[in-house]
Amino acid sequence: MSRVIDNYLAVKAEVEKACSDAGRNSDEVKLLVVSKTIPIPVLMELYDFGIREFGENREPELAMKSAAMPQDIIWHFIGPVQSNKIRKVVKLARVIHSVESLSQLERFERIAGEEQVSPEILLEVNVSGEASKGGMTPKDLPEIASVAARCVNIKFKGLMTMAPFNADQQELISVFSGLCDLKSGIEKNCNINLPCLSMGMSGDFAEAIACGATVVRVGSRIFEGIERIAK
Ligand SMILES: *Cc1c(COP(=O)(O)O)cnc(C)c1O
Repeated sequence: MSRVIDNYLAVKAEVEKACSDAGRNSDEVKLLVVSKTIPIPVLMELYDFGIREFGENREPELAMKSAAMPQDIIWHFIGPVQSNKIRKVVKLARVIHSVESLSQLERFERIAGEEQVSPEILLEVNVSGEASKGGMTPKDLPEIASVAARCVNIKFKGLMTMAPFNADQQELISVFSGLCDLKSGIEKNCNINLPCLSMGMSGDFAEAIACGATVVRVGSRIFEGIERIAK
């Protein structure tokens, strides 16, 4: 079997182990393949293996890949969104993990209506407060979430976060369980169900699963040893 499929299956097995360690059913957690900087032929090996969802973090690369690859792929947008790219992202991605502000949310809602699409959106929260990370503060979240809950074009599905680089175990748990608590608070206040908690990457998905992640976003572990697209 090819290297990338081997890697994928190894990560998948670790995701399943983390689920069972946490007393969770493995079908509660989606392993999202983060395909940024990976060439299309490598992604087509995963496609041929049955993978139908990929995550990209830059609009030009998403546009290039979604035009060139099979149309039944569900694309997730996980990167920072520039306001002049919102229309393109809305047209290409089914799930947007990284809505960071009220003004972005309002633009997504308006443009989704104009384009007659209904993407799922997650609000990105900077739980740790680390300056280099994107996302809104936990303090700003409740108001933005209450607006998201009333949107009619976009579908508000949950929250996303990134843990700080080099966080120790204790900090990871505090960030991930913090996001889970924020989600519960919104569900109560807005009287809605948020099925999606997008948290955990190559280095920390086991901790995220222990804290309730429903989507883990994994790139480098799956593409270990694979040549990336030259910059
Ligand atoms: C790149 C990226 C990932 C995947 O990170 P790896 O450490 O390569 O698994 C997950 N989420 C976001 C937002 C990313 O940009």
